[in-house]
Amino acid sequence: MKNTYIRIMSGICVMPLLTACGNTAETVRTADIFAMDTYMNIKAYGSGAESAVTDAEARIYELERTLSVTDEASDIRKINQAGGQPVTVSADTVSVLQTAQDMHYESSGALCISLYPVLRAWGFTTGEYRIPAADEIAELLENADDTQISADGQTVRCPAGMEIDLGAVAKGYTGDAVMEIMQVHRISSAIINLGGNVQTLGSRPDGSAWKVGITDPFAPDSLIGTVSVTDKAVITSGNYERYFTGADGCRYWHILDPADGYPADNGLVSVTVIGACGAECDALSTALFVEGTEQAVEHWRRSGDFEMILVTSDGGLLLTEGIAADYTAKTELPYRVVQRNEEP
Ligand code: ADP
Ligand code: MG
Repeated sequence: MKNTYIRIMSGICVMPLLTACGNTAETVRTADIFAMDTYMNIKAYGSGAESAVTDAEARIYELERTLSVTDEASDIRKINQAGGQPVTVSADTVSVLQTAQDMHYESSGALCISLYPVLRAWGFTTGEYRIPAADEIAELLENADDTQISADGQTVRCPAGMEIDLGAVAKGYTGDAVMEIMQVHRISSAIINLGGNVQTLGSRPDGSAWKVGITDPFAPDSLIGTVSVTDKAVITSGNYERYFTGADGCRYWHILDPADGYPADNGLVSVTVIGACGAECDALSTALFVEGTEQAVEHWRRSGDFEMILVTSDGGLLLTEGIAADYTAKTELPYRVVQRNEEP
C-alpha cells in the first residue's frame, strides 16, 4: 500500500469557501476513499460539486469491479480464466486494453500486460514476496506476449495459459472517467489524486495553476519539486512505490522488464509523465520506466504530446523542455533540460 501522505481517510466534506469580505464564493466538496488497492482523493469546486463527487465515487468503484485482476466477477478475471475462449467484456475494458496495446507497440514491448504470472511469482500480487528461480521466470515469460491478445468489438480472446493485469493503466483510465463526470456536472475546477496519479481539471478556483508535488524517489517523504499545470494529468511510476528487500540485500520492485522478467533496472528510479490523457500518461509512465533513460528520451522526441521528469538511478534529474518553465525545484538537486532537437 502506498501514498500514505493522504492521511485523512474515509469521509466526505462539503465546505463553502469564503471570499475576503466573508461572502460564500464557491462550494468545495472532497472525498477520501480506498479503491484499487490505494488511497484516493477527489476535490471539486462549484455548485455541482456535491453530486459530481458522489457520481465520481460510484464510477471509481464500478471501474474497480470491472478492471480488478482479483475480483471474481471482473472482466479481467473472466478473460484470464477463459482458457483461450472468447469473452464479452465492457466498453471500459476494451478501451483500457486498446490503450495498453497501443503502448505495447509504441514502447517496443516495454509495456506488457501479460506479465501477470511473472508478477505473481515475485509475490507482487499478494505481498508474499520471494525471488523466483531464473528458470521459473524464463518458463513463465514464455506465455507473456501482448500481441496474442485480440479484441473484436467487445469480444476479447487471450490464449490459454496467458493472464493479464491492467495495473499499469487502470488508474489513469479511471482518472479520465472521473474528469468526464466532472464535466457532465459542469465542474470547471477539480483535482484528483488516485494513488499518486494526479489529474487536474481547469485551474484552481482563483484562476491560478495547480501545483503538483513530485516525490523524491530517494526520500519518498519529500519532494524534489513541483509542477504547475492546468487541465493535465501528472502521473509517476517509481521503484520506491512497491518493493521488497530480498535476503540478498537487494531491492526488488513492482515494475518488471518484459525482456527478462526481473524488476526493470535501466537507469531510472522514477518517471513522471505530464499530458492531457490520464490513461495514456499512466501507460507511458510504466513503459518509459522500463525503457530506461535513453529510450525514454527518444520516445519523448518521437511523440510530442507529453512532457516528462526523469530521476536517474545515479541521482540525476532530467526535465523535457516543455515542462521546464513550470517546474519549481524543492531540493538542491541540479537538473538538465532535454531539448527536442539535441542528442541525448
Ligand atoms: P502504480 O500502479 O504503482 O502507480 P504503474 O502505473 O507503473 O505504478 O503500474 C505498475 C503495475 O503495472 C504493477 O504493479 C504491475 O501490476 C504492472 N506491471 C509491472 N510491470 C509491467 C510492465 N512492464 N508492463 C505492464 N504492466 C506492468
Ligand atoms: Mg502506469
